[in-house]
Amino acid sequence: MSANKKLLILAGDGIGPEVMRQVRRLVDWMGRRRGQTFEVKEGLVGGAAIEASGVPLSEATLADAKAADAVLLGAVGGPKWDKIEFERRPEAGLLRLRKELALFANLRPAIVLDALVDASPLKADIVRGLDIMIVRELTGGVYFGEPRGITTLENGERQGVNTQVYTTSEIQRVARVAFELARKRSRKVCSVEKANVMESGLLWREEVTALHAAEFSDVELSHMYADNCGMQLIRNPRQFDVIVTDNLFGDMLSDEAAMLTGSLGMLPSASLGVADATGTRRALYEPVHGSAPDIAGRDIANPIAAMFSFAMCLRYSFDLAAEAEMIEKAAAQVLKGGLRTTDIMAPGMARCSTTVMGDSILRALDKLNVGAV
Ligand code: NAD
Repeated sequence: MSANKKLLILAGDGIGPEVMRQVRRLVDWMGRRRGQTFEVKEGLVGGAAIEASGVPLSEATLADAKAADAVLLGAVGGPKWDKIEFERRPEAGLLRLRKELALFANLRPAIVLDALVDASPLKADIVRGLDIMIVRELTGGVYFGEPRGITTLENGERQGVNTQVYTTSEIQRVARVAFELARKRSRKVCSVEKANVMESGLLWREEVTALHAAEFSDVELSHMYADNCGMQLIRNPRQFDVIVTDNLFGDMLSDEAAMLTGSLGMLPSASLGVADATGTRRALYEPVHGSAPDIAGRDIANPIAAMFSFAMCLRYSFDLAAEAEMIEKAAAQVLKGGLRTTDIMAPGMARCSTTVMGDSILRALDKLNVGAV
């Protein structure tokens, strides 16, 4: 493969540009050392775009995002823009991007690296070796369902209404993503809903079961109620491989799973859209963390979440699993060697800057690459 892989980098605000600088170095390294070259465009999103053009996502940037094979995003937002109305805020740029690219599947891995096992609030015995993937439906369900709103009833009481609604195709397309992912992992999917008390949950279960029988019987499928899943994630998280669930439950369960790892600066994510005729999906990759205005501009942010997001991009948008693994391995080695950014600092370790973490990961990659050829 060569230069036909199109990337759009939107660094955004706060620590976004700092962590994305390290991602850019990874992109360049892939061209230099692995012959995997990318056509890279950069653009503005969020507060940076508001400053430049008055809107958090310009039409030109949106067009670039649609033309790209994958978008790599840093983070948006900050106190400077907190007072403007919601539709013009930095976050609105990101929401529009997700909507316009029709990114319906949000992938959030929760992985506990050996070197960081003590960063988890849970006992090391429970989380050691954890490697799960939560697939959350992102564009349907109760956050978007109609009717919605707050009304005043005849008796003067106020009533708030939201509607949980899913269709066959919405359920099947996100379940398909989960089954396909599971095929590249341990071939286990747990589908999560509340089929015991919600019709939409019952439909979810029936549709996932039907798709499984028709196309994915080589994958082990189980079902679990969302409340139980919340409990099992704490009791025995390693029982899971891929979890697929709706927008609301996914919102909560993916945050809960994130906390199992104990470190926001380490968590990547991917959001995938509908596959075209060639099987290629629109995709956006971003760290789970925000723009961290409290530490922005000091070169102390952890760049690993953003770097791991690029690894996900290599794996899911470009089928470069070996290169993705190299990035993950290089970071794990650097952490094993005792280097830590402030957010994951622990007694006896060596504190380092964003740039030094990037330098060290690139050096580890060079060594791994020598081993690989
Ligand atoms: P945050 O994730 O930015 O920060 C939470 C805490 O974690 C802070 O103390 C921060 O210093 C720390 N932190 C986060 N990422 C880190 C990293 N890579 N390295 C070291 N420390 C890190 O969340 P917040 O403070 O609630 O929000 C700050 C701004 O970010 C807000 O404007 C919010 O709207 C925005 N935000 C954006 C996104 C996004 O772009 N997807 C996500 C969440 C929040």
